[in-house]
Amino acid sequence: MPAQVTERQYQGQVHEQSRQLMSAWMDELGRAEAEGVATGALMISGNCVELLRACHVLPMFPEVTALQNAIRKKSLPLILKAEQAGYSSDNCAYVKADIGLFLEGGMGPGKPIPYPTITVCNYVGCNVYVKWFEHLADITGSKLFMLDVPFARTAEPTEQDIRYVTAQLQELIALCESVSGKKFDIDYLREILAHAARAEAGYARTKELCKRHPAPFDAYFDAINMMGPINVLRGTREAADFFDVAVKEFEGLVAQGLGPLSEERFRTVVEGPPPYPFYKSFRNLFAKWGAVGVASTYSTVGGIWEFGFRHDPRRPLESIAEQMLRENLTNRSIVARYAQIKRYVQEWSADALVIHSIKSCRLFSAGQGDMREYFTRDLGVPTLMVESDLEDPRYYAEAQIKNRIDAFFESLEHKKLVAAAH
Ligand code: SF4
Repeated sequence: MPAQVTERQYQGQVHEQSRQLMSAWMDELGRAEAEGVATGALMISGNCVELLRACHVLPMFPEVTALQNAIRKKSLPLILKAEQAGYSSDNCAYVKADIGLFLEGGMGPGKPIPYPTITVCNYVGCNVYVKWFEHLADITGSKLFMLDVPFARTAEPTEQDIRYVTAQLQELIALCESVSGKKFDIDYLREILAHAARAEAGYARTKELCKRHPAPFDAYFDAINMMGPINVLRGTREAADFFDVAVKEFEGLVAQGLGPLSEERFRTVVEGPPPYPFYKSFRNLFAKWGAVGVASTYSTVGGIWEFGFRHDPRRPLESIAEQMLRENLTNRSIVARYAQIKRYVQEWSADALVIHSIKSCRLFSAGQGDMREYFTRDLGVPTLMVESDLEDPRYYAEAQIKNRIDAFFESLEHKKLVAAAH
């Protein structure tokens, strides 16, 4: 009987600094209305947060509000409120939790989460975004800006695609100037993009370190500590400095041969967002088997940095457009996602693929049945698929999920023992 795997009780600088940075941003949002600072709601995926920052518009992210409420186990009453107002049970639960928050009066004038001054729908890949942000603008009375980003159809974005997006970015600059009352300065944007590129390089380096055995952190569950700084705070000096700290901390763990668990028995690649209302319980189901996520697609939802793309201060608007068009998970086809996962499995030496399918998110879950077939049958990668939701706790059936996870790792363990005996 192998020794029991335990979690290292480790809350390092990465966890603490990420918490502090995100709290400071939330505090800033809470003060925005009183201080007369313009705010802009944005989507996480392929966002142009640097541009808003350069225009002195404080970014806010409804997805982050929704997931924070889910982690705090506050999402269900909000979802129910939205369903009472007519949202269907199979709508994206992020949307319902967010709309429910408005209807409950948890957002608005004088609240820690203010109404946005402008609502920027950076539509990348998921068509739910369009309706969500239309509703958001309607409820809050904020100005709606639809930023249409064509779906990636070619390996690299075409010149026409880049021109089409940069022309819209120019229009967005004009709108931001009108609400912030401040003139746009391209050199300030270049400065912000240099900070962004430094953060991107740092995040990529932390992921690179997960190629080591053991991986110094769980690239699915612990990546959440880095997703705030990279997606929300990208473009700030603080976020860039944060990644310097993260790299140093993880390099230190690599040097000591330490990972997040007492033993790394299985290396997994994880596809799909986590079940935020049951984050820790879900994590525990893998931890007890010594399974560590060494790479994940969800951590690239806002941007894919580990394969080399960086914002370029010499081509400010063009590189923002390129990132929105191509360098994020949601604006790509599922076949491109196959290629991304395949690389992870091979280059990060993974034993298995875990697919967490999200009941209310079609963007992620459509096609995952075929994905499982492809990895299992065509590539011979053991693949586990479990289903729940990223926001709605009603879809998390722990006993069922646990049974599937246990059966999967039991079989992987058996295969390992058989292979070792030959
Ligand atoms: S359907 Fe999925 S990708 Fe689209 S907004 Fe909802 S959670 Fe995000």
